Amino acid sequence: MSAGLFDTHAHFEGTPDETRAALERAFAAGVTRVMAVGGSETLNRGVRIARDAARDGAGRTPEVFAAVGWDRDQCGRCELPPLDFTDANAVGEIGLDYHYSPETRKAQTELMARQLELARDLALPVLIHTRDADGDTLGLLREIPSKGIIHCFTGSPSFCRDLLDLGFYISISGIVTFRAADNVRESALVVPDDRLLVETDSPFLAPVPMRGGANEPAYVVHTARFLADLRKVPYERLVESTTANALRILSGAGVGRPGSADARKSGRTTTELASC
Ligand SMILES: [Zn+2]
Repeated sequence: MSAGLFDTHAHFEGTPDETRAALERAFAAGVTRVMAVGGSETLNRGVRIARDAARDGAGRTPEVFAAVGWDRDQCGRCELPPLDFTDANAVGEIGLDYHYSPETRKAQTELMARQLELARDLALPVLIHTRDADGDTLGLLREIPSKGIIHCFTGSPSFCRDLLDLGFYISISGIVTFRAADNVRESALVVPDDRLLVETDSPFLAPVPMRGGANEPAYVVHTARFLADLRKVPYERLVESTTANALRILSGAGVGRPGSADARKSGRTTTELASC
């Protein structure tokens, strides 16, 4: 039997029943693992809901991994509630978006920097969002060496190479199937087999042929098929390599410092992440 696909980036905003149904559809479609990703109070809550759904799903849902963190939209907040990293597999999503919010650039970089340090202390990989912020993203990742995933990559091939040089994995979303996304296809071809990942970023960005509706983890199959064609590799091989890559990151190979598992268990909070 095939290893199954790993959707490395999905958000859950529905009720427990809706979340469980989406996970069951994913499993039926051949998705055996999903990373539930936080970033706001709502999204962090969704991670817990997805985890509970998988636990109650009795083998009919994918295995759910958990990432919690604060995304760029939470920057500058004076009070960020504590986060629980006890069962977390990654910190995220975190990062910079100057396309939508260039005016909060300084606060965004501060929040990202603090969470890169936190991830290092906890020995967890990071999930990074970066849009129109190539220079600052590279600057921070050079200043605070980190491991992890650049999610929903939409940058240029040269930015992609810089991130690969820093050891990052590149995750490709359904955008790669959009007609106008030549640059994403070009970048996806720059990524070597052992650094490539696939994701939905659901409920956003449904791939062709589902484009226009809500996205869900089951649809990562369309993106994976498209990528296999684009890269001229057998579909099964792409499934196997992308899943193996994701598991390698999450195994913590080369991440962080000794003793950090204890730091996670100590229930460390993120109170110190608030910026005033
Ligand atoms: Zn996301």
